[in-house]
Amino acid sequence: MNIDVLINEKDLEKRIEEIAEQIKKDYEGEEVVFCSVLKGAIFFTVDLMKKYTGDCEVNFVRVSSYQGENSTGTITMKIPLKKEDVENKNIILVEDIVDTGRTFKYLVEYVKEMNPKSVKTCVLLDKKARRVVDFNADYVAFPIDDLFVVGYGLDYDEKYRNLPFVGYVRK
Ligand code: 5GP
Repeated sequence: MNIDVLINEKDLEKRIEEIAEQIKKDYEGEEVVFCSVLKGAIFFTVDLMKKYTGDCEVNFVRVSSYQGENSTGTITMKIPLKKEDVENKNIILVEDIVDTGRTFKYLVEYVKEMNPKSVKTCVLLDKKARRVVDFNADYVAFPIDDLFVVGYGLDYDEKYRNLPFVGYVRK
């Protein structure tokens, strides 16, 4: 597979630092829980937390999305959150990429049912052109075109997550 660089390590680092500073300003005096959506968001979550200078915790949730033939995606919970990890806390869901928007929309509703103090969404990559449900993330590091991307946590058949940059598959 031919993979070209879309976002290099230096640009990732710079933009993630900006996002961390923005979140810090928005939550001044409050503690936040970065809730990382496995597996794709692991690199982003770790780097975001390393740049975040406020009080924070980390947690993890895992979902799988399957695309049916009639293109209605179904989401299955693989690793759930516990109510005590969410209730009365400022939850920031951290995702690798928003595509159709279904996963994030599902997760926001899921978290809201556990009575958080607040819930916001933070995403590394946003493919806005592909949206099928009405969803906008609160923090977007990079809007991107409709490309299939890998690296920096994102996979193709579980491979390529270890690339230190975000790449795209050259056709
Ligand atoms: P959504 O529910 O927004 O359609 O899909 C989100 C999920 O689809 C992401 O968490 C990711 O797992 C997968 N996805 C969407 N676009 C891409 C892409 O370009 N590359 C990779 N590796 N995964 C993608």
